[in-house]
Amino acid sequence: MENVCRHLLVCGISGYRRIIFIFVVCDSGFMDEFDEMVAQAIEKGVSLSRLKAYFSLASESDTARLRAAVLERKMGVDLSSVKSLKLDFDVLVGRNIENPVGGVVLPVGVVGPLLVDGSFRKAEVFLPLATTEGALVASANRGAKATYLSGGVKARVIGDRMTRAPVFRTESIDESVRLREWVETNFDELRRIASSTTKHGRLEGAKCFIVGTNVFVRFSYSTGDAMGMNMVTIATDRVAEYIEKETGAKLVALSGNVCSDKKPAYINTLMGRGKSVVAECTLPREVLSGVLRTTAEEINEINVRKNMLGSSVGGSLAQNAHFANIVAASFIAMGQDAAQVVESSQGFCFTEVRSGGDLYFSVTLPSLEVGAVGGGTKLETQRELLSLTGVFSVEEGMRSKWLAEVIAAGVLSGELSLLAAMASDELAGSHSRLGRGGEAKG
Ligand code: NAP
Repeated sequence: MENVCRHLLVCGISGYRRIIFIFVVCDSGFMDEFDEMVAQAIEKGVSLSRLKAYFSLASESDTARLRAAVLERKMGVDLSSVKSLKLDFDVLVGRNIENPVGGVVLPVGVVGPLLVDGSFRKAEVFLPLATTEGALVASANRGAKATYLSGGVKARVIGDRMTRAPVFRTESIDESVRLREWVETNFDELRRIASSTTKHGRLEGAKCFIVGTNVFVRFSYSTGDAMGMNMVTIATDRVAEYIEKETGAKLVALSGNVCSDKKPAYINTLMGRGKSVVAECTLPREVLSGVLRTTAEEINEINVRKNMLGSSVGGSLAQNAHFANIVAASFIAMGQDAAQVVESSQGFCFTEVRSGGDLYFSVTLPSLEVGAVGGGTKLETQRELLSLTGVFSVEEGMRSKWLAEVIAAGVLSGELSLLAAMASDELAGSHSRLGRGGEAKG
């Protein structure tokens, strides 16, 4: 199959008439062979994951095209857009995807300039958002403009730990208590074992939770510029193996759900996970009225009654209006793990009316899980978009912290603008205008 494609390319640059002629000849041969493979795969019931081996294909990208064609025929659907995307599956398979058939396209908009005063630098950057929710980018941009005119957003990472918490089984509560003591006493050795699996990860803590004959050990690590989930899972696997060998406790699961990854859990708010970030901005009265068409009192009231009280009444783990919108869209744009939006969007919005009618506005994200290396950050489009945040001009080792601070500034801008829209009763109108392509209704 590769030879046929190469032949087409050579012909394509050697003259118009020849192109047409040879294209038809080669293409039909190629299609015959391809069609035959599709028919054979269906007839013999070859599973989609075995196509490469079954037909001895050399390339993952060719296999993806074949897989998509088999699916099309089997399901009677058209995947022409999905399979037309240029993704190099020979690079991605084994790192980012299995059983590929193509890709999806999402529109990306930018928020900015965002003026971010972070732990290491103050800079004007842009935050890319991949979303299909009309009005989201426009709204976050309005918030970014308001914060820019107010001197920017100050953001600080106040905690930086990725966690993995295996659960061990013991025979009695005495044994559970002994296991906890053993972990505390032997922590330095556990750290040494963890360090043997990674250059950038370092075991920083181990907190035990005893529930009868179950001991959950919540290991926490610094992970350099990586989000770190693979890194700490590999390290914890080695550490858990050692604990089993030395104590006789039985490892039941490497992840015992006290970690807590990709599940809404208050432990992440209390103890932090990934980056714990706080961000703030004080907006002068004139900016509130000029850009956001509202006042400090109105925004503060909405924050108290909706974000604080309403979230308590509803039993929400997140005291905010829509951190998830900015977190999800920026995660998808920049190759972060989208499922971690669950805990990354937990957090608080806090407001105060200051003298002269100014507004103090802050957001706190206790478990924002982001990385500047690893995972989906290697993909070309995601990497290009990451660069808009200025992350690659930050010193190595500080990059994921800067990224967290930029995202927190974007979250603050988005939250501010939404609360302002509610205060000035503009929410439904802007969604009607920008989300439905129609006219504003008021
Ligand atoms: P990773 O790509 O698995 O690991 C990061 C790699 O980057 C490591 O090999 C690390 O080397 C290297 N590295 C190079 N420069 C670095 C630097 N400056 N700072 C940190 N590391 C550097 O990524 P990860 O962040 O650990 O894991 C993210 C992936 O885990 C995502 O794809 C996510 O979807 C997935 N995930 C896995 C689990 C799981 O349970 N395994 C759960 C959720 C998500 P060293 O290790 O030698 O330092």
